[in-house]
Amino acid sequence: MELTFWGVRGSFPVARPHARRFGGNTPCVQVAAEGSHLVIDAGTGIRRLGQRLLSQDEARDFTLLISHPHWDHIQGFPYFEPAYQPDVEISIFSIQRQEDKLETLFSGQQHVAFFPTPLEQLPSRIRFLEMEEGQPVEASGFRICTLRLNHPGVASGFRLERDGFTLAYVCDVAPSRDLLLADPRPGISQDAFRRELFENQIRLAEGADLVIYDTFFTPREYAERRHWGHSTLEDGLEICRLAAAENLFMFHHNPERSDDELAVLFEEARKMGESHGVEVHVACEGQTWNLEKGGLTPCE
Ligand SMILES: [Zn+2]
Ligand SMILES: [Zn+2]
Repeated sequence: MELTFWGVRGSFPVARPHARRFGGNTPCVQVAAEGSHLVIDAGTGIRRLGQRLLSQDEARDFTLLISHPHWDHIQGFPYFEPAYQPDVEISIFSIQRQEDKLETLFSGQQHVAFFPTPLEQLPSRIRFLEMEEGQPVEASGFRICTLRLNHPGVASGFRLERDGFTLAYVCDVAPSRDLLLADPRPGISQDAFRRELFENQIRLAEGADLVIYDTFFTPREYAERRHWGHSTLEDGLEICRLAAAENLFMFHHNPERSDDELAVLFEEARKMGESHGVEVHVACEGQTWNLEKGGLTPCE
């Protein structure tokens, strides 16, 4: 099984020289196993993934998981070339939403005022599937579970299991210690819901081999922008410690962060990880990792 980062940057894509090393595309992560292709989020990174897959003539059947419909997680979809192939089938999974169904939001993104080709005219077969929170589904050979996270609107993380390996995708997420940012759920107090959303992070990461985590902020940046809905490395390490997860990937990098600044933060993070018993890695666009039961290794 292989994990490839096609987009690692949060909020908006950056093309400036300072983001060349770690990459400037918005979130897109591919997990490939035995000919099946699972993709998490459709930020601008999905464009190159689509081109690669078509050039290899590999995949005709995709599972796409969407954490939430903020722009940086869906804006690449209109440029996903496999969606323009009639023999391609794309299953798009997301957490159940009462209003603003994901299909409607995707369709709106491709309204003729914004984009020349409407979603409904794409030649591929696209189906939207809603996941019930906490109820696992099987797709592309993975067992997938989703739980809501503390982030403005309705956003969720994913837990993927296959061949004895567990990966958690916990992005975008605010720490849940200060503010409730998620749309409230009727019948539960705000404080109780905030606690539930915190525990959801641990449930997603419980015993995971690796956790891809939203480390957008430093603690000082978080203090100034608690309402933005993002976390810090320190929060990620605490979740991994509580969940007994082994590896953490710093992800959803701040678009203003230069490569040099990110490299310095990563060095500090590795040392902090050691004291938490967690191995820290940094997500880098274009990098592929081998995932095997018991560990992960970078591909050359
Ligand atoms: Zn985001
Ligand atoms: Zn977001």
